[in-house]
Amino acid sequence: MIKSVNPYNQKVEFETQELTIEETISAIDQAHNRFLSWRTTSFAERSKLMKAAGEELRKNKEEYARTITLEMGKPISQAIAEIEKCAWVCDYYADQAAHHLAPKMIETDAEESYVSYEPIGVVLAVMPWNYPFWQVFRFAAPALMAGNIGILKHASNVMRSADNIQKVFERAGFPEYCFTHLPLSSSKIEDVIKNPKVKAVTLTGSTPAGKAVAATAGSQIKKSVLELGGSNALVVFEDCNMEKTIEKAVTARYQNTGQSCIAGKRLLVHKNIVDSFTSKFVEAVKKLESGDPLQEDTYIGVMAREDLAEELEEQLNKTIDAGGKILLGGNRNKAYFEPTVLGNVTSEMPLFKEETFGPVIGITTFETEDEAVDLVNQSIFGLGVSLFTEDYDRAKRLVPRFDDGAVFVNDLVKSDPRLPFGGTKISGYGRELSADGIQEFVNKKTVYFN
Ligand code: NDP
Repeated sequence: MIKSVNPYNQKVEFETQELTIEETISAIDQAHNRFLSWRTTSFAERSKLMKAAGEELRKNKEEYARTITLEMGKPISQAIAEIEKCAWVCDYYADQAAHHLAPKMIETDAEESYVSYEPIGVVLAVMPWNYPFWQVFRFAAPALMAGNIGILKHASNVMRSADNIQKVFERAGFPEYCFTHLPLSSSKIEDVIKNPKVKAVTLTGSTPAGKAVAATAGSQIKKSVLELGGSNALVVFEDCNMEKTIEKAVTARYQNTGQSCIAGKRLLVHKNIVDSFTSKFVEAVKKLESGDPLQEDTYIGVMAREDLAEELEEQLNKTIDAGGKILLGGNRNKAYFEPTVLGNVTSEMPLFKEETFGPVIGITTFETEDEAVDLVNQSIFGLGVSLFTEDYDRAKRLVPRFDDGAVFVNDLVKSDPRLPFGGTKISGYGRELSADGIQEFVNKKTVYFN
C-alpha cells in the first residue's frame, strides 16, 4: 500500500494499492493504443477538451485544494491559488498550442521545405509533492495539446491528488488513457522508462532522483527533461525600494512554507543597508501567520513530511555551529518549522551551499557588484536569481553575467505559462512552459518536397 499521511495531525488520509508489474505494462499498452488515435486529432478538438479541463478545475477548486492541504500541509488559500494557476496553464495551451507547433516554412532549393512538429507518444512524468497539481499540469497541458499521452508517477505522499488529476481529465471528457496516473513506488520507475512504448520522461524533484531517471533514460536513448531544484539568490542593492523588496523577498522565501524549487533561499544584501534591511525583514517575517493549514488566514503551514523538517533542522544546526546567528525562529515541532532568519551567513555554510527546502533563510553581505555576481554564481544550482535595484541600467548590465536560467528584476522568480522555465548546472536541463516547453516532447520533422 502507498499512504498519504497528513503532516499536520499524522492521520492517514489515503491509501492505495501499488500496481503490479502486469497492471503497469497493461496501463502503458492502453496509453500507447490511445496515442494511435489521439495523435490524429486536430488542435481544435484538443483545445476544446483542454478548455473543459480548465473549467473543471475552476468549478471544483475547493475539492481539489482541500486534498492538497490534507496530504502535504499547504495552507488552503495557497492550494486554491495553485488550482487556479493550473486552469490558467490549460487555457494558455488550449489557445497557443496550434501557434507554437505551426509548421515552420524554410526556404531551400526544394519546391517546399518545412519543419513539422509532431507528437512522439507516451511521456512519463515523475513529479513531486510540493505543488502536487501545478507541477503535473505544467507538463500535462502542453503534452496533451501536442498530441502526446501522459502517464504520471506522482510522489508517494500525494497519491490522492494524483487520482484527482486523472479525474480532472476524465471529467473534462478526454478519451480514456490520454492521461493515466500509475500508483507506483520509485523502485518501479526504471522498468517503466525502459518500456519501449514509453518515449520520454520528465522529472521534477531532487538531484538524486533526477540522476537516476536521466541515467536510465540515457541508457535507452530517450529524451529527458529535468527540473531539480535550486538555491536562488535575492540580491538587494543599496538603491532598492526597501519596502517593496521586503514584501517580495518574504513571499519568495516563505510561500508554500518555503518548499519551492524557485524560492529565494540566499538573501544577499549590500553591506551599507544590511542593518536596516535585516530589522525590517525580520519584522515582516514575524507577522506571517502560522497555524492549521485548513484555516483561510494561515500563511505558514507544516512541512510536507517530518523527515524533511528534520533534514532542514540539521542544515540549520550545522550553519549555527559554523557561526550563523539566529535572528528569528529556529525551532521545530514535528513537521512544523518556525519561520527562521539567520544572519552572519557566509558562502562556506550549509545554508548557503545547499538547497534548503523550508521556511529558513540566511543573510549574507556583499560590497561590490562583482562580489554579488560571484556569490550568486558560486552555487551549484542555476535556476534563477532576483535583483532588487532602482537602477535598470545596472540590472541590464548584470543580467548576462549570471549563470542561471532566469533573472527577475524587482520581483521574485516565478513561473508563468507564457515564459520558459528551467535551470542550468545541477538544477537540470530542458525547459517547461511557453513555446519552448511544448516543443521539448515533439518530433521536429524535416519535410522536403522536390
Ligand atoms: P524526490 O526527488 O525523492 O521525489 C520527487 C519524485 O521523484 C517523487 O515522485 C519520487 O517518488 C520520485 N523518485 C525519487 N527517487 C526516484 C528514483 N530513484 N527513480 C525514480 N523516481 C524517483 O524528493 P523528496 O520528496 O525526497 O524531497 C527531497 C528533496 O528534493 C527536497 O528537500 C528538495 O530539496 C528536493 N525537491 C525538489 C523539488 C522541486 O520542485 N525541484 C520538489 C520536491 C523535492 P517517491 O515519492 O515515491 O519517492
